Order: sequence, then structure tokens, then C-alpha cells
Amino acid sequence: MKVAIIGAGITGLTLAHELVKRGREVEIFEAGPAPGGELATVEVGGEPVERFYHHLFSHDRFMIELTRELGIDDTLEWHEPVMGFFAGGRLYPFTSPGDLLRFGHLSLPARLRLGASTLYLQSRRDYRRYEDQTAAEVMLRVVGREAFEKIFRPLLRAKFNDHWKSVSMAWMWARLMSRARTRTANKQRERLGYFRGGFGVVVDALARSNERRGVRMQLRAPAEAVTIGEPGAPALRVRGALVAADAVVATVGLPIVRRLLPASREDFARELAATDYVGACVALMEISQRLSPYYWTNIGDADLPFAALIEHTNMVEPERYGGARLLYVSNYLPPDHEFFRIDDSNLIERYADSIRRVFPTFRRDHVGRYWVSRDPVAQPVIAAGYQRRKPSYRSPIPAFYICNTAQIYPDDRGTNYNVRIARECAAQVDADATGRSRAG
Ligand SMILES: Cc1cc2nc3c(=O)[nH]c(=O)nc-3n(C[C@H](O)[C@H](O)[C@H](O)COP(=O)(O)OP(=O)(O)OC[C@H]3O[C@@H](n4cnc5c(N)ncnc54)[C@H](O)[C@@H]3O)c2cc1C
Repeated sequence: MKVAIIGAGITGLTLAHELVKRGREVEIFEAGPAPGGELATVEVGGEPVERFYHHLFSHDRFMIELTRELGIDDTLEWHEPVMGFFAGGRLYPFTSPGDLLRFGHLSLPARLRLGASTLYLQSRRDYRRYEDQTAAEVMLRVVGREAFEKIFRPLLRAKFNDHWKSVSMAWMWARLMSRARTRTANKQRERLGYFRGGFGVVVDALARSNERRGVRMQLRAPAEAVTIGEPGAPALRVRGALVAADAVVATVGLPIVRRLLPASREDFARELAATDYVGACVALMEISQRLSPYYWTNIGDADLPFAALIEHTNMVEPERYGGARLLYVSNYLPPDHEFFRIDDSNLIERYADSIRRVFPTFRRDHVGRYWVSRDPVAQPVIAAGYQRRKPSYRSPIPAFYICNTAQIYPDDRGTNYNVRIARECAAQVDADATGRSRAG
């Protein structure tokens, strides 16, 4: 039985890994020149670093298990970086409960209420009660207007942009739980994991292991269409030629899946269109000076043209990168936003002007090399009621499966959950194939 996989990001690579373990023949078709997808890297000082910032949480057990299985767990290192929050034109420390109590951007009663209500939300064990409510309505009610307007609305906007009002409270709950679970025993800091050599070490190890086990991977080979042939045997059109397979799994975002579907499945395409996406537009810059002590600075002021500033070299020491300091400027935006169209140098000029409003000593000539990365289908919008819309692995097209970040729910999407869905989907594909061969 042969499985064709569309996409060689961590989901596609892990899926292949799981399927060959079950004795299936696998071929991966990847549009880009290299595997990795959103984990693609560039080199700074001879060391790979992701184009999009990455870290793990201490409870990301699926990724941790995978690295053990691949024999690369010794490259995973744990850090306890500090966080900041820029709001009302000022930068505040935002790491520990003590920082929250001293957070001068909020009045004292609002801070006390925020502390108590966060603990309350984290004590709730069952997210299902929140599934049909929006984070905006629940958080406003629980933390109060001041903390909502000054903290949670900016955080929701940072991730979902104009869709912030519709985001599910179940997603927000999972996010609060995740941050609480990754805190150190005395709760003062978060423990974040990062690989020596960057997340690319996981991609490389998976690709090597797959190759050893006979997985074929075609690069620069975009899937152009899924066609329906014999019942139980979809085919894939790649570079104009039809590739036969017993099962096809798409690991790409839903807007891409929709474009691949045959016209006769317009009903299914419409169903998938119910999930909106926001894109990611991230600039990674080499900068000549450290800007702050913070790894991650959330931006609370809506008039700044970015959502977070991430000084990667405040988590991983700059010596790894030949002494270079690395800053990510992060944005989640609607896919038709002008930042997806303007040229990179123009974007960097605009970012540099605004970074100076956060760090007044910063100047454009502090930026050395830079890399701008854009993914218009980076983040599905997890709206209230999403549990009813979430696509299943099986699709209405026989032996055509979907396995992508839109199935990560209620957790915030991330590599850990990509590994989990890849395992689950591989088990489904395998079981269905066994069922079909018994029936045949
Ligand atoms: C800004 C940002 C920050 C993030 N931070 C973190 C973090 O800190 N921690 C964490 O764990 N996760 C983080 N993530 C999420 C993580 O990167 C993703 O969940 C994960 O990489 C998605 O993997 P994937 O394989 O599902 O999709 P992708 O990585 O998108 O892979 C899909 C692949 O399909 C290919 N493709 C597209 N169209 C076709 C086609 N027609 N035919 C064939 N191939 C095609 C693409 O080229 C790509 O290689 C972050 C993501 C972003 C954008």
C-alpha cells in the first residue's frame, strides 16, 4: 500500500515516519526546495536559526518523545528567559506573578482582579464549557474591562488580528493553561526549550530517518490537484503527471487543500472555507546592540506596526551565532495585508522606524542582514464553536485525508501538536488500509 503525502513540514515528515514504522510505502511531495516548511532556517555565524521564531514548552511531550526516538534529545536545552510588555509608551517586565502585581500600566484593583481571575481560569479543568463562547466575552467578564482592554485584547489581536472578537474561549483557556504548566516549580519563570542547532535538527533527523527507511521525497514538486480515480484510490497530479497512490494525505493549510480538490467536490471545499486564516509576516534581523533584557516583548500599543519583538539572543547566547544578536519582528496579518506585497527593504525601513518608539536608542543602521518570511496560511482562526467545524482526518473523498494545524484544538498550534496529529492520522490511514485489504 502506497501513501502519498503533500508537504514536507514537520507534519508530513512525522506522518511518513509513523507510516513507514507500520510497514507502509511512502512518497512525499514538497513544493519548496527543502523540507521544513515553517521550520525553515537560515545560517548566522555558521549556526542555523529558524526564519520564524520557535521554542518548546516543558510539557510538549510529543515533541520530546519524538526527539528521543530520533536520538537527538541531547540537543534540547532548557532556558528561563524573561518577558516584557510594552504599553502606553513604556516597557514593563512581565515574567513573574510579582511583575504582574507591579505592572503600572494597570490600576492596583485591576491587577489584583487579574491575578485572582487568572488563577480561577487556570483552576478550571474542563474547557468544553467554553467552546461556544468567545474569549472576548468571557475575559471581559472575568478579568474586567481595564485588564481586558490593556492586556487581553492586544494579545488576541497579536495572534488573530481582525478576527480577535470571534476567537474561542476554549483556545484562550488552553493557552493560559499551557503558559502556567511550563512555569518552573516556584512559578517565577517559564521554561522554554530550544535545540542546539535550532529546530532544523528535528527536520534533518526526520528526513534522514525517513530516507534510511525508504521514504521517497520529491522536492520542488508541488501537488497541483487531487483527482478521484478508482474507489479507494485517489491520485495526485504533480508537475502535470498523475501519481497513483492507495491513499493521499494533505498536510498543507485548508486554503491550499481547497485549491487541490476536484470541481465535483465544491460542497467539501465550501465546508473547508468556513475556517479563516491569518498569515505570518516575520522579519529576522541581525542587530548590532542588545535592545533589552527580554526574550519576548508583547506590544500593547495598537498603533505600532508589529505585535511582538523577540530577542532570540536573550534566550540563546549570541556566541552561538558568532556574536550576532538576533531580533524577530512578529506580525499575524490578514493574507491580503500590504506587508505581504511590499518589498523586504521597505518593510524593514518601516519596522526600524517603529522599533525606535520602543527602544529609543535603536537606529536603522543597527540592522545588518535580515530575512523576511511570509506565510499567508500560518494560523487558522479558532473561532467559538470550532469543535463543530474542525476537519477530521478522513474526508468525504475516499482514501483522501487531511492532517494539518487546523486540527489542533483547543491547544495553540505548535510543533508538539503537529507530531500528535501526525501520529493519530497515521494510525487512521493504516487502520483504514488494513480494513480495505481485508474487505477486498
Ligand atoms: C511565526 C511563527 C511562530 C511559531 N512559533 C512556534 C513555536 O514557538 N513553537 C512551536 O512549536 N511552533 C511554533 N510555530 C508553529 C509551527 O511552526 C507549525 O505548527 C509547524 O511548523 C507546522 O508544520 P506543518 O508541517 O503542519 O506545516 P508547514 O510547516 O506549513 O508545512 C507545509 C509544507 O507544505 C508545502 N506545500 C505547500 N503547498 C504545497 C503543495 N501544493 N504541494 C506540496 N507541498 C506544498 C510547504 O512548502 C511546506 O513545506 C510557529 C509558527 C509561526 C508561523
